[in-house]
Amino acid sequence: MPELPEVEVTRRRIVPLLVGRRIEAVHTTPDSYFFLTPPDVLRDRVADRTVTHLERKGKYLLAVLDDDCRLLIHLGMTGQLFSSEARSVRLLSATARSSLAPEEQDAFRADEHTHLAVNFVDRGPRVYFRDVRKFGKVMLLEPGESHPRLDRLGPDALEADGELLFRASRKRKVPVKSLLLDQAVLAGVGNIYADEALFRAGVRPGRGAARLNRRECHDLATGIRSVLKRSIETGGSSISDYVSPDGRDGRFQDERRVYARRGEACMVCGAAIRRRVIGQRSSHYCPVCQS
Ligand SMILES: [Zn+2]
Repeated sequence: MPELPEVEVTRRRIVPLLVGRRIEAVHTTPDSYFFLTPPDVLRDRVADRTVTHLERKGKYLLAVLDDDCRLLIHLGMTGQLFSSEARSVRLLSATARSSLAPEEQDAFRADEHTHLAVNFVDRGPRVYFRDVRKFGKVMLLEPGESHPRLDRLGPDALEADGELLFRASRKRKVPVKSLLLDQAVLAGVGNIYADEALFRAGVRPGRGAARLNRRECHDLATGIRSVLKRSIETGGSSISDYVSPDGRDGRFQDERRVYARRGEACMVCGAAIRRRVIGQRSSHYCPVCQS
């Protein structure tokens, strides 16, 4: 599932393809739970508009239009926002993925999973929003209108603050891992980066949040900021369906120290990485480096 770094990489790379270009028309799939605004309304309201800027709030993208409406976009589990010129094996069906290198593939053609296809007046590259499992979302917000999903978000995880984490954890009877996944505490952290940040701070994911001392909360905030920034620098984690707007793969998956490394040796001490389910999410940690 795309987390803050993947959404931020998407934002940065889709900006040149989206901002400042007048939209001619948007093609959609039929109405479904993917659309929080009915697709016929979307098609009508977005046509002839220009995106003036693109913001990120936690794992949400907000495209601000020149009539001050905002298009809320969430990638969900398998959402892909990309240029019609992107080449990536992640855009092919399993059978077609078999042998072709990305440069040998034809351009992607919009399929039944391409819920939004944006055409521009300049006839340049189109922008596609594709989502095989449809856990992604799109919604048109009127000028000044917000959404409970946005209102609930805490401070952005790139600005994670140790003191704030310390205060937020005092009254909570949950494991620290669950606290980090709570978007009202910090917006943007998901399973991968929570595990990686906890490793860097030397804190086990199953520790009760209220039992962390002030120094550990500061170390954790530092770990969160550094792991997110490093992932953005490397283009994010290219695992499962995540594809960046230009099709280039990220490299952060090669730098993971604990996530999805169960049984492998800890890069610091050599102990076997363990996996444990906490709050229905798999958590990975080193039994020696983290306490
Ligand atoms: Zn270790």
